[in-house]
Amino acid sequence: MLDKISCLSKATVRKLVHAYKVQSLRICKMSTTNGLPSNTEITGPGIVAVCQMNCKPNKDENIKTGKSLIEKAKVRGAKMVFLPECFDYVGESREQSISMAENLDGPVITQYKNIAKSLNVWLSLGGFHEKGPEHDASRIYNTHIIINSKGDIVATYHKTHLFDVDIKGGVKLKETDFTIPGSAIEPPVKTPLGNLGIATCYDLRFPEMSVALRQQGAQILTYPSAFTQPTGMAHWEVLLRSRAIENQCYVVAAAQTGKHHAKRSSYGHAMVVDPWGAVVCQCKEGEDVAVTEIDLTYLNKVRTQMPVQQHRRCDIYRPTVTSQKEPIVDNATYAFGQHTIKRDIIFYKTHLTMAFVNRKCVVPGHVLVSPIRVVQRFSEMTPEEVSDLFTVSQRVATVVESHYGCSSVTVGLQDGPDAGQTVMHVHVHILPRKPGDFKRNDDIYSEMEKHDKDSSGEELEDSSSEWRTPEDMAAEASTLRQLFKDS
Ligand code: AMP
Repeated sequence: MLDKISCLSKATVRKLVHAYKVQSLRICKMSTTNGLPSNTEITGPGIVAVCQMNCKPNKDENIKTGKSLIEKAKVRGAKMVFLPECFDYVGESREQSISMAENLDGPVITQYKNIAKSLNVWLSLGGFHEKGPEHDASRIYNTHIIINSKGDIVATYHKTHLFDVDIKGGVKLKETDFTIPGSAIEPPVKTPLGNLGIATCYDLRFPEMSVALRQQGAQILTYPSAFTQPTGMAHWEVLLRSRAIENQCYVVAAAQTGKHHAKRSSYGHAMVVDPWGAVVCQCKEGEDVAVTEIDLTYLNKVRTQMPVQQHRRCDIYRPTVTSQKEPIVDNATYAFGQHTIKRDIIFYKTHLTMAFVNRKCVVPGHVLVSPIRVVQRFSEMTPEEVSDLFTVSQRVATVVESHYGCSSVTVGLQDGPDAGQTVMHVHVHILPRKPGDFKRNDDIYSEMEKHDKDSSGEELEDSSSEWRTPEDMAAEASTLRQLFKDS
């Protein structure tokens, strides 16, 4: 059988696979009474175009290529065209890549906005080298941009997963040395083809992200990429098909191809995969554009007949939050309700949570742990924030209890004014306890009620002499930071 199949042309094999697919769907259909989900908007087929480029360190040349591929796609009826990561340029060195970076209102994106408008097509421009902020000018953002057919930017996403390896005597590549990681997933964008979940290249290896996008309503996932030859050969198609099958989404994957300069080549094989996992179109060797249909009726059929999404057991999967410590950027400030928290009083920080010393302590070592996002109530936090907040609180409680020579710790969260919350930003109080520190153990709660208030029950003025000095707070934070040095 295998021999026979290998004698057939690719087109015949594809037809056979398609026939098998339709047949098996029919079989599924016969054994189920499910109709299409009533809450799903069904739109007719739309043509998508996926591009394959061989970009050089020459922005003008690359724009010319991009434009001609988009024009070809338009002639073939595309409503939306997808360009690969580094569609603007592939630099020869890190320095060159940084120096060529532009802002979103620079010439490259302005030209693509004009192309989108004049050809009346939507564009996905994945992996744009976007200049970093002034305080971090030696790094860029790897930005995926969606432009609508009027030429407006409707979404941007900063690539979140960055490749950092340092193997003794082997590969050393630290993407975070020159790229600032994004800190959030962009909710799916409503496009004429369907709801589009945006990601970039290396993100493809993290199924959690695709599942999150699917849960937020994505029907199409896209991974503009510049895979190397070895990783492309081994993993590219299998990863794309896996993301399509497990999420029952179309996957659109534009790609860089061929030799860019002496040091870098890409694998190519830009393709579109349907929600059943079949590769429905693929670019040929070299620069090319391939088109196919995005058929949401078919997508809904696949989802109805194999409702894996409804069978997910989120109740039994462990939270994927790692609470990994992150460096605290110089001069950074964070909001704590109406207050501003400076870097020097923070002693532990993850991408979602910060732990900092208190302006007025009920007991020595009384510190606070808060989500970085200003969120007033516990109920408004995301599951990831809750998980991270408590994981960090546990770490902090363990360390301060031991550092202050205590044997117990009171951990408190006052949620809402009637529970005693005065700063309207969720925070966990960590209070190391010693035997006999209060006459009765629970007296600590009445002390917490009063400690930051004046005689009329109002929060102490900023100018009050009862607050600790900034120097005193910074010194305590510095000591605590040392205790977390290796975590
Ligand atoms: P609660 O009354 O539960 O809202 O607690 C607010 C806590 O925040 C109190 O322990 C205050 O001492 C503390 N606090 C208020 N402002 C600051 C600040 N700027 N820096 C550090 N801690 C603060």
